[in-house]
Amino acid sequence: MPFASLGLSSALLHAVDARGYEQPTAIQQAAIPAILRGTDLLALASTGSGKTAAFALPLLQQLQDRPQQLPRPTHALVLVPTRDLAIQVGDSMRELARQLERPVKLAAVYGGVSINPQMMALRGGADVVVATPGRLLDLVQHNALKLADLKVLVLDEADRLLEAGFADELQRVLALLPARRQTLLFSATYPATVQGLAQAVLNEPLRLEMPGGTQTPAAIEQRAVQVDAARRTPLLRHLLEQQGWSRVLVFVASKYATEHVAQKLRAGGIAAAAFHGDLSQGARSHVLADFKAGRLAVVVATDVAARGLDIAGLPVVVNYDLPRSPQDHVHRIGRTGRAGQAGLAVSFVSATTEAHFRLIEKRQGQRVPREVVAGFEPTEAAAPPAGNGGIKGKRKSKKDKLREAAARDGSH
Ligand code: AMP
Repeated sequence: MPFASLGLSSALLHAVDARGYEQPTAIQQAAIPAILRGTDLLALASTGSGKTAAFALPLLQQLQDRPQQLPRPTHALVLVPTRDLAIQVGDSMRELARQLERPVKLAAVYGGVSINPQMMALRGGADVVVATPGRLLDLVQHNALKLADLKVLVLDEADRLLEAGFADELQRVLALLPARRQTLLFSATYPATVQGLAQAVLNEPLRLEMPGGTQTPAAIEQRAVQVDAARRTPLLRHLLEQQGWSRVLVFVASKYATEHVAQKLRAGGIAAAAFHGDLSQGARSHVLADFKAGRLAVVVATDVAARGLDIAGLPVVVNYDLPRSPQDHVHRIGRTGRAGQAGLAVSFVSATTEAHFRLIEKRQGQRVPREVVAGFEPTEAAAPPAGNGGIKGKRKSKKDKLREAAARDGSH
């Protein structure tokens, strides 16, 4: 099915062409006509499915079709869990809107930076506001924007929006919005919290479940390498050289580890940088730009910092530390294999993390054969199962609490 059959204006078809999109992705085929009809949407789709354009294109079309007013009433609000995603979604939409006859005013607002320039940007109104919930509430409190005339609400990465103590902020934002509106909910996973949200905010939605929504997208090859924990950095260096990987996103469990591993790689002559929530917005943008431009071969990140990152064509993701939950695993490996391209996700598994990796395999319904790399054969024996092995239990662990704190740091 070509883009031309989805009901988009010729200006938008031109924009799609200018971005080099030849065919709509599965979610775009299903979602674009439905959104143009005014239907609510529940889409289980992860990053890499083309979900951003799936909502951005019909939103832009709606804006082209409506009468112009000044100050501009906010037509659409896109809520995202992190500032990086806010920047990214804002950039993608701006790119698609660039050649439109009627200029569309977009504002991306997020925490971690001064509020004043964002208040200035909202003067005279903005047609589309892309926001993290915390900063949006601050701006509303400053009377910097009004949401009374909102027509469309997009919840992007809804599972993430509900994570780590954000649910309250989200509820407070929802309370500010007109009840009569179109709501589009996108989520990579569909836990009970998201089901509850969907029931509360959606009105007879069209439900789209994309392959790879909660399962691993098929275009991603997974490998698991057994290695002693202490030998992971040398193994990573070895693989970078031997496999000729040009751009790798490496996941670790803590901010400290991002710095530590990146520094070890740099000492070995590899262009590597750390990426975590304590970096300033400027430093984060810098790392991202260098990575996208190919000046960095490796970015070492925490889950929180890397959430929702869109680095087109990222070929390899490495789980240096295993993700805490199977859902995090889906999010991590969703960074590779974008929009139909093949991707590779490599997990380092040690004797102590083997049981945890088995749980991830079970949840994703896919076994990953264990491999050993010559020169890095594991010497540690599996420890007898003790406690819950770091697997999510009912009570919050110390790590859970730290993670929640980190999520707050990283997203406001
Ligand atoms: P998303 O799932 O929105 O994060 O998009 C993932 C990546 O796919 C982004 O780099 C998009 O620019 C790209 N993309 C979106 N739609 C298409 C398409 N129809 N054809 C090719 N690439 C696309």
